[in-house]
Amino acid sequence: MIYLDYNATSPCDPKVVEAMLPFFHEKFGNPSSLHSLGQEAKKAIEESRKEIAQLLGAHEDEIFFVSGGTEANNLAIKGVVSAYEKKGKHLITSVIEHHAVLNVFKTLEKEGFTVTYLPVNREGFVDPDDFRKAITPQTILASVMHANNETGVIQPIEELGRMARERGVIFHTDAVQTVGKLPIDLERLPVDLLSASAHKFYGPKGTGFLYVRRGIRFIPQILGGPHERGKRAGTENVPLIVGMAKALEITLKEQPEESQRIQELRDFLERGILERVPEVVVVGARAPRLPNTSMMLVKYVEGESMLLNLDFAGICVSSGSACTSGSLEPSHVLLACGYPHEIAHGSVRWSLGKWNTLEEMKEVLAVFPDVVEKLRRISPFGKEVIHHV
Ligand SMILES: *Cc1c(COP(=O)(O)O)cnc(C)c1O
Repeated sequence: MIYLDYNATSPCDPKVVEAMLPFFHEKFGNPSSLHSLGQEAKKAIEESRKEIAQLLGAHEDEIFFVSGGTEANNLAIKGVVSAYEKKGKHLITSVIEHHAVLNVFKTLEKEGFTVTYLPVNREGFVDPDDFRKAITPQTILASVMHANNETGVIQPIEELGRMARERGVIFHTDAVQTVGKLPIDLERLPVDLLSASAHKFYGPKGTGFLYVRRGIRFIPQILGGPHERGKRAGTENVPLIVGMAKALEITLKEQPEESQRIQELRDFLERGILERVPEVVVVGARAPRLPNTSMMLVKYVEGESMLLNLDFAGICVSSGSACTSGSLEPSHVLLACGYPHEIAHGSVRWSLGKWNTLEEMKEVLAVFPDVVEKLRRISPFGKEVIHHV
C-alpha cells in the first residue's frame, strides 16, 4: 500500500502510541479527581499543555484542548462572535476555507451577521488588498486559513493578521494543515486564535487544540463542568492529549529535514507526471505551497475514476477534498480558483508524509500514466484529447 493522502489524516507515530498506552489502563484517573490517580492524569495533561505552548511560542493558559480541528474552528468563530457581537455584525472569511469554517459562517449569516467571503486568484491565493478593503468599522472577526488542505497553498496570514490588528479586528486562522508542517511562532505571528488537529501531524484522531491569545474573550460552546478553565466542559481525553503533545514534539524536531526531503519527493513526482501525462495542470504551482501537497487537474478524466483505479493498484489518494468525495459536486476550492466544473472534476490530490519513499514515487510514476491513458480512451472526451496532443 502506498499512502499519499496525508492531508486527510496521518498514521500515529509508534512513539506516540507508546506514550499514550499507560493512560488507557494504568494511569486512567480522571484529571478532576482529587486522589493521586486523578492528580497524576491532571499532571500529564498540564505537562502536555506546557509542551505544546513552548513548541509554538505560546503561554500555557492560551492552549485549550478540544476534540479536533472541527471543534477548534467552531469554538473560535462562534465563541468570539458571541463575546463581541455588541461591537459589530460584520465578519470576514475566504471562499476556500474548510467546511468546518464555512458552515459556521453560513449559520451566522442566518443569525443576522454579514459575512464577506474573500475570493482567491487562479493560484488559490487570497489577495491582501481584498482583505484590507473588506474591513469595516463593523468588522469584529476575520478567519482565513493558514494553508489550504486541497491545494496546499499557504495564505499570507502574517500580513492579514497585521492588518486586522491595526484595525482592531480579531484574527483567527485554521492552521490544521500547517501545525507540524511549518514552523509557527505565536510570539511573532499576529494571530489571535489558531486551530490545530493532532491526526494531521502523526497524532491520534479526535483531539486538537485552540490557541487563544491572552486578552481575547470567547464564550464557551460546550457547557458543563469547570474543565479547561471553564471554557470547554467535558472530562479531558488524557491519552489523546498526551499523544498529541508527543506527536507535536517529534514532528517539529523532524520538521526542517523532513520538509526538505518530502518536498524533493513531491517535486520528483510532480515533474515525473508532467513529463509523462499530457494536459495536466498543477494548482497553485506559482504560489507559496506546503512542501507535501500537489493538487493536479487531469483534463478529460474524472477524479473519482482515477482515485478508484489508483486504489486498485494499492495507491491511496484523494480527489478534491475528502468531504466532497462522497458527492458529485466538484471541490468548492477548485471552483473558487476559477476552474470550470468539468476540469475541477478531474482532480487528484497527492499529499505526502514522513513514511513515503523515492521507491514509492517511482512506483506511482509507473502506474499513473497508464491509468490516465486508459480512462481517457473510454472517456467521452477521449477523441478530443488525442486531437489536442
Ligand atoms: C482536517 C482539517 C480540519 C478538520 O479537522 P478534524 O480534526 O478532522 O476535525 C479542519 N481544517 C482543515 C484545513 C483540515 O485539513
